[in-house]
Amino acid sequence: MSDLDTRTRQAPHAIAAAPVLILLGPPGAGKGTQARMLEERFGLVQLSTGDLLRAAVKAGTEAGRRAEAVMKAGDLVSDDIVIAILRDRMAEPDCVRGVILDGFPRTAVQARALDALLAETGQNVNAAISLEVDDAAMVARISGRYTCAECGEGYHDSFKQPARAGTCDKCGGTAFKRRADDKAETVEARLKVYHAETAPLIAYYDDKGSLDRIDAMGGIEDISAALAALVQQRT
Ligand code: ADP
Ligand code: ADP
Ligand code: ZN
Repeated sequence: MSDLDTRTRQAPHAIAAAPVLILLGPPGAGKGTQARMLEERFGLVQLSTGDLLRAAVKAGTEAGRRAEAVMKAGDLVSDDIVIAILRDRMAEPDCVRGVILDGFPRTAVQARALDALLAETGQNVNAAISLEVDDAAMVARISGRYTCAECGEGYHDSFKQPARAGTCDKCGGTAFKRRADDKAETVEARLKVYHAETAPLIAYYDDKGSLDRIDAMGGIEDISAALAALVQQRT
């Protein structure tokens, strides 16, 4: 048997064992913060469609050009673009370790596309975890958000400051950035879109028996502990 045969025979088993977790929640709920924690603790790969889209905008790809204005306005990028970006990313080899989907799916069409994509490799969603925060907390979290320009570590003006002011805890970087869409006008639009398009997915996963809820109103560390315990059970 050639090397190629061995690889194609083994691949479906390796992929079938890989956990698939979804973090659901409004903008600013803490999905990115907690996904990075899960990545470190469990060796899973964080897949943020927001990060993938921002990279496409920066690179000036066709998808990025189509997405840019939509993102700035706080609307959802079209399902076909987002599904294609996610599908390509999930085909990369590191995803056999298992994935945490952060910010995907956001519509019923995306949720069904994900089911179909996973079915191709005999996978399932292990858990869709809803981070539950109220709208006021979400606005406060978004309006103070910034990230390390070097490694992407997330910070907050009031709730999560670097140990040494102006220096990233993770990589020592000293440049930080704020997102173009984290503005009061856009936040309201994003919240409306969340309630109309994405919140119904909570019922979608509840009906399938794969929904878990986490109270995400507390501090970052408390939420991380609750989430890690849950993920341990589900994977
Ligand atoms: P999302 O990915 O859901 O949009 P983030 O993880 O980027 O959310 O978090 C939004 C902002 O709120 C960031 O500045 C982050 O540091 C901060 N944050 C995250 N979780 C909490 C929490 N439990 N309490 C207070 N602030 C938080
Ligand atoms: P947040 O969770 O803080 O709202 P994201 O980084 O997940 O931020 O998303 C930023 C923007 O990227 C969204 O407002 C939307 O325009 C676009 N986007 C990200 N993920 C999706 C998705 N799954 N479907 C459609 N648009 C998306
Ligand atoms: Zn950094």
